[in-house]
Order: sequence, then C-alpha cells, then structure tokens
Amino acid sequence: MPDSTLNSLLTWLDHSPTPFHVVQTAITSLEDSGFTGVAQLGNELPMLGYIAHDGCIVAWRLGTAKGALRIIGAHTDSPNLRVLPQPDIHQLGWSQLAIEIYGGVLLNSWLDRDLGIAGRVIDSNGESHLYSAPRALARVPQLAIHLDREIGDKGLHLDRHQHMTPVWGSTKQSFTSWIQEESGITDVIAYDAHLFDIASASLLGVDRSLLASGRLDNQASCWSAIEALRNAADSEHTSILVLNDHEEVGSNSATGAAGPMLSTVVTCIATQHGLREGQQFDRLASSWCLSADNAHAIHPNYPERHEPRHAPLVNHGPAVKVNGNQRYATSARGLAHIRSVALSNDIPLQTFASRNNVPCGSTIGPITATQLGIEAIDIGIPQLSMHSAREMCGAEDPLHMVALMSAFLQH
Ligand code: ZN
Repeated sequence: MPDSTLNSLLTWLDHSPTPFHVVQTAITSLEDSGFTGVAQLGNELPMLGYIAHDGCIVAWRLGTAKGALRIIGAHTDSPNLRVLPQPDIHQLGWSQLAIEIYGGVLLNSWLDRDLGIAGRVIDSNGESHLYSAPRALARVPQLAIHLDREIGDKGLHLDRHQHMTPVWGSTKQSFTSWIQEESGITDVIAYDAHLFDIASASLLGVDRSLLASGRLDNQASCWSAIEALRNAADSEHTSILVLNDHEEVGSNSATGAAGPMLSTVVTCIATQHGLREGQQFDRLASSWCLSADNAHAIHPNYPERHEPRHAPLVNHGPAVKVNGNQRYATSARGLAHIRSVALSNDIPLQTFASRNNVPCGSTIGPITATQLGIEAIDIGIPQLSMHSAREMCGAEDPLHMVALMSAFLQH
C-alpha cells in the first residue's frame, strides 16, 4: 500500500476538526491540482472549479455537452460537542463550558479525553475566520467508580445535559476573551466552537492494518472523493463532487444535502453546455450519483447485530448499502452498475444490508436522488465505533474507495 497516500488521509483528519476545516482542507487539496474557486456562479465556470460556502463545497471537472454527470457526495460533519453562545459556568471551584450535543454522539466515548477547540469566529464586518487549538483545553470527567456503585449492574447512565459539561479550568475563565486571543480577532461578534479529541489519527494493530481517528465518518469519504476528483483524467462526462454539512442532523439547511448547492451547480453546468430543459432531463436520466458514507463493519464482539450474509469485513473493500425502504438509495440497477465498475477494475466490493430488527441509519443518497432525479448508489468504508469520539476502520479500505471512485468517474 502506498504509505504516502495513506499519510495524506491521516494529515487530512488531523487538520479537519470541524466541517469548516474540512472545506478548507479540501480547497487546499483542489488548488494544488489546479482547481479554481469561484465566489459566484453567475459567470462562466472554469473547467476545473469549486464553490464553497460554510461547511459545504461543490467542485467540478467539466466534460462535454454530450456527456452525462458522475456525482460523488459525502458529508463534512460528525457528531460532537459544541460550545454555546454564553458558555461560562463558574461553580464549586471549577470553570466549565455550557455545550450543545450535535448529532447522535456516543456520549461515553467523550469521557476523560483531552479535548481541543476549533471553529470560526465572525468579526464586526461579518467576515469569518477559522481557528483551531489542538491542545488539551477541556475534559468531560467521568464519575469515580466508588461514587457510582450501580455502574457494574446497571451500566453507565449519562444525562445528556447534566453529565456532559466539560471542565476547562479551576480558575475563572471567560470563553469570549479566550477565543479572541486564540483567533487573533479582537472584534469577535459570534463564533462556532467545536470540541474534538486531540489524539492524532494513527495506524493501529500489530500489523498496522487498521486506522483509528475521530471523524472517520465521514471524512474518510470526503478525502477519498477529493483524491478521486483530483486524479481523474479528462472525460466526456462531467465529474462533480459535493461535500454537504448537516447530514448528522437530517440535511435540512442551506449547506445540507436538502439545500440548493448541488442542484444550482448542476443547473449552471447545463446552461454552460447549452442544454434545453428536455436535454437536461435526459442528461440526468443517464447520470449517476455515488453517495459515500461509512458503513458498519461486522463487530467481533457483537456479530449477532448483523445480517450474516451482508456483514462487511474490514480491509475487504467498500460496501454497497441496500435498503428497499429507501434509507439507502441503491436499486438493483445501481448495484449492477457499481459491481461492473468494481469488477472491470479489479476492486473488491462488499454488500451491506441491515437486520430487520436493527433499523439502519440513512445518508445523503436518497435526498440527492429525490432532489435531482439522478439515480444514486449508497456506498461506504466499513468501520467500527461509528459516532464515537474515536472511530476505527481498515487502513486499506480508504485506498480501495479512492480506486472505486476514480473508476466510477470514468465509467
Ligand atoms: Zn455518516
């Protein structure tokens, strides 16, 4: 396995504690490969371009007017703890931060970790500035076992409001003055501040065949998609990549998959290609969207939670996700399409379906299919510990995902 490619994923993860940083990391990567950012969509689009807004980015490699679209989608957000606008708590000798829980956090996984803080500040001109403090600033301390005698029998019970408030000092601290100093911006009017585990992404296992990090769901997919788009050869098909925010909370926002970012870019490309409405309909009907979001690998300690014939193994390739109830968008035609892409390029591919008594999550796949009328295929890198502060996947599967996405863009 080419170590330098995998190292670029580890670096990506360490540099991207929030959706805003994911977009920034993606931009750096794209610009390295000759992509140009546009601030508005009203002018002619560059052949290799992107537009970014907050935690969402859409990038493209234009093909010809006759070609179809090959879209890859993923999401930039991960469940986490976020500092509220008026967070200062001083009590009982502790300085604490009032937080909001974002998305489906595995609460226990955030206990007793060294947490950094990152996000963006908005100044008095409405300008946004990113900042990141990847050092041990805060901690959600677990109650000692001696003070929680029932934990052995009843398990850990965490009240979402009372028990998840982080400590960040033992002297009186003002969050606003800290963030002004940290960001170097003196007129901070408002901010986004996300807590994150400061442990670096790392290879794991005696054979170093596994990868542990925060936010693998879904930055492993974001990274794979950017790699595939960067390396794609020119083709008659137009390649589009969309990384949406807010997937973990339902995708309904200006920068979420239910928002207009992708559909607007798709319309602008059609205009530039001179397509009439009917021709655009025909184009969409012959196009494909690959919706990438991590999948559940079979867990050695809980094998009974999986449908045994559709339980992905780590390091055996991406898993196509099927769900007739449309939690995933993949149809039999989509499954056939991606299988033929994988087969003709010698890329391993697995299939995931959930048990009927363990309902699965959903992805941006069905939403994108509904918005655009494009057939979508849901796919994901198999992982364990989804929504933990520190997740784990196979180290080879992100590379298989890049290969599959690259082949998908050309097919
Ligand atoms: Zn996800």
